[in-house]
Amino acid sequence: MKKGLLIVLSGPSGVGKGTVIKELMKNENLNLSYSISMTTRLPRNGEQEGVNYFYVSKEEFQKAIADGELLEYAEFVGNLYGTPKAYVEKLRNEGRNVLLEIEVQGAMQVKEKCPDALSIFIIPPSIDELAKRIRGRASEPEEIVQQRLEKAKKEMELIPQYKYVVCNDDPILASDIISAIINRHMQI
Ligand code: 5GP
Repeated sequence: MKKGLLIVLSGPSGVGKGTVIKELMKNENLNLSYSISMTTRLPRNGEQEGVNYFYVSKEEFQKAIADGELLEYAEFVGNLYGTPKAYVEKLRNEGRNVLLEIEVQGAMQVKEKCPDALSIFIIPPSIDELAKRIRGRASEPEEIVQQRLEKAKKEMELIPQYKYVVCNDDPILASDIISAIINRHMQI
């Protein structure tokens, strides 16, 4: 059986990754499995253990690093996030295409370890539009909005490291484009 693809999807906070992924997961032809990460951050309202993340303590996370259980990991605004390696490998060996939704530092580690990974960066139509989306989704103080935008600009400096860049002007269109990319790579 052909080993499944490793697909890395990144993009700044507020760009709409969640909606695009939801669309992608509906497409059964893509044979996609979502990799559930480990994190030290607390669950948000509506999030579930083993669905959105595996929620662990800092000590448990450090142990997973020491035991070599993570494919990659990074700190993101004060919390640790990482991809459990065994689960990803098991799925890929079963022929599933595995989707990692991870930030840029982690994506660079995956690129290093798995040069054949398919990396995709989702960009907003403009910084103004990203600001609008961030302001629209939570009533955060303007200072936090500005911090998120600064972080987004920093993350976007790494765009040239990704194989593909997809603009999320419309989530259905963005997911159609990503589906086409995955489909093509399934044939190569
Ligand atoms: P959130 O706290 O909003 O769920 O996620 C914050 C950031 O961490 C997002 O950019 C998300 O893509 C990233 N992230 C989630 N899981 C992982 C992971 O396993 N590894 C890395 N490097 N980043 C992750």
